[in-house]
Amino acid sequence: MSPDMNCIFCKIVQGQIPAKKVFEDDDFIAFHDINPRAPIHLLLIPKPHIESLQHVDTSHQELLGKMLVLAPQLAAENGAQEGFKTLINTGPAGGQEVYHLHLHILGGRSAA
Ligand code: 5GP
Ligand code: ZN
Repeated sequence: MSPDMNCIFCKIVQGQIPAKKVFEDDDFIAFHDINPRAPIHLLLIPKPHIESLQHVDTSHQELLGKMLVLAPQLAAENGAQEGFKTLINTGPAGGQEVYHLHLHILGGRSAA
């Protein structure tokens, strides 16, 4: 899971391309989606390059648990106190465009 230098989200993790970052710790980074589909549209990504939810195994359990625990915290900190929607697109049939696992956090009045 070393960085994939063709991966746009790895480049964001490495600081090689800019993003409107809202959170960072040792394991995760969160930033605003470049093409927001709701008033609040964040992407929460693990720093290691994991291609998709089809590429996880039991070694990722702790990381994935942490991702879900972070989601409501980030939603609340970024104005989605009244609820939010989470989404993980997986694989071609799942509409995944960027092959670095990410959780969409959508909030604001039109998120539903
Ligand atoms: P997917 O369809 O893979 O679940 O969603 C990928 C998301 O990444 C899309 O909502 C798209 O707008 C967003 N995205 C793609 N490239 C960039 C980028 O360079 N910066 C940011 N902030 N978001 C991006
Ligand atoms: Zn990546």
